[in-house]
Amino acid sequence: MRLSKIQALGSGCGCVAAIFLCSVLVARQEARPSSPTSGQQTGARIERLVLIDPAHGGSDTGAMLNPAIPEKDVNLAFARRLRQELSNHGLPAQLLRDEDTTLTADQRAARVNSEHPTLYITIHSTSLGSGITVINALLPAVASTHGLFLPWQTAQSTWLAQSRLVSTLVTPTIERWGLPARLLLAPLRPLNNVTAPAFAIEIAPMNGDILQLASVEYQRLISTAMANAVVGTLGLLPARPGPIS
Ligand SMILES: [Zn+2]
Repeated sequence: MRLSKIQALGSGCGCVAAIFLCSVLVARQEARPSSPTSGQQTGARIERLVLIDPAHGGSDTGAMLNPAIPEKDVNLAFARRLRQELSNHGLPAQLLRDEDTTLTADQRAARVNSEHPTLYITIHSTSLGSGITVINALLPAVASTHGLFLPWQTAQSTWLAQSRLVSTLVTPTIERWGLPARLLLAPLRPLNNVTAPAFAIEIAPMNGDILQLASVEYQRLISTAMANAVVGTLGLLPARPGPIS
């Protein structure tokens, strides 16, 4: 799917609301070029890391997919399977939350920006649509770049081209696994605040049955497709910045 097909997201799990209230600035950080040892762990630092964020959690249930299935639990199940699949490919991956905890969008962004992941993926699920929607940040217009600092509400701007490149490549790979996939832009936090290549995915059932989201078979299919898509594109992204000890 080409970038020209990107359009504004108008529905979903209900978490795509544009909220730009924070004026905090984050220090601008340039990504370091990729090194020949990409994908290898050197000393105590991992040069490539995928940080997976199961959206919602704790008191924030997300959408109630049915009376017994809150979105937060489905997101966590998909995230754990994706972590395992990436690990099977030899790619280090961590979860931003691995239990039922409450995190604000700002807390999530702060964690991402301190970890400097190679790629950040936040996972949502929904009863609407079919297959996977890959979402890039839709940034608001900002008048000033504030020199060495990035406005919090558009901190993603420096990394947006990389985010769109990866998303553009990931989407057709997902389709090759038999899953409907499309690209969208949305003002979805914390994507706007993340200083790393980043996208969100929103997972919907293929058969219209919300119970499919909770099935082991469907979760395996989604996580396998996503892991293959991510592994195929991660070499295009810079290694994590900072010293390698
Ligand atoms: Zn959601």
